[in-house]
Amino acid sequence: MSVRKLVPMNDMLADAEEGGYAVGAFNVTDLTGIQAVVQAAEEERSPVIVQMYTRGTDPTPARYMVAMAAIAAESANVPVALHLDHGRDLESVETCVKAGFSSVMIDGSKLPLAENIEVTLKAVEIAHAAGISAEAELGKIGSGAEVLSTDDRAKSLTDPEEARRFVQETGVDALAVAIGSAHGLYKFKPNLDLDLLKEIRKVAKTRLVLHGGSDLPRDQIQSAIGLGITKVNVATDLAGAYTKALREFVASNDGIIWPGRISSAVQEAMKELVRDRIILFGSSGMAD
Ligand SMILES: [Zn+2]
Repeated sequence: MSVRKLVPMNDMLADAEEGGYAVGAFNVTDLTGIQAVVQAAEEERSPVIVQMYTRGTDPTPARYMVAMAAIAAESANVPVALHLDHGRDLESVETCVKAGFSSVMIDGSKLPLAENIEVTLKAVEIAHAAGISAEAELGKIGSGAEVLSTDDRAKSLTDPEEARRFVQETGVDALAVAIGSAHGLYKFKPNLDLDLLKEIRKVAKTRLVLHGGSDLPRDQIQSAIGLGITKVNVATDLAGAYTKALREFVASNDGIIWPGRISSAVQEAMKELVRDRIILFGSSGMAD
């Protein structure tokens, strides 16, 4: 049997597009998280994307992450990608590409369109030169804690014509679109603009990504996948599962001080959450 390596995200998303499902992209920060995500994917026979969000320019965390994810990918019997979530500049992108990530995101969504195109194009070149995939963001997905006026909310959404141009000029492999979801927990009632998603899908020749997949009604997520979303990001819900399991275990096991026991409990809770989302996104059973 050949040893599996981390796979470029693009291959997974191409299969997802054809199969009408989405691949879950789960944010982790440590070995417990990586093992939980990859074990859940193996149990569900699903491809999976392990994601990391990194601040700062120290390449050490990225290198640790690659080493751990590479071992997980080698021993897993399902495809595993390692993706940089919301790369804030080209330096972060380069750091992760050099470290061995199989996919990177550049987030130029706060820049004017021309500058977002420029920085994304460079990130795509860096990624493609290394044989990996690149994701970008157009429109502003923002935070669920921010309650915007109807006007501001509308302005933050992805414009289909801009999306068409953005994809054509950058050749980006995947595009995170602002269609009404937001990061974190919602202080307002989210309502995905599915008509807008349809419009974008018609004109933007790339694969579309839904960020803010936590705390979002399940039927809305499924509708978005039905309309062509092929990657759904889950960070907050997984962080919540981690923290809840940690608190509960410590509170009900007063005498236990061993970190290994605590992380086993945490890993189990994270794994259950990931399995649930894999089933929701329709990728269960879709691994080669
Ligand atoms: Zn995001």
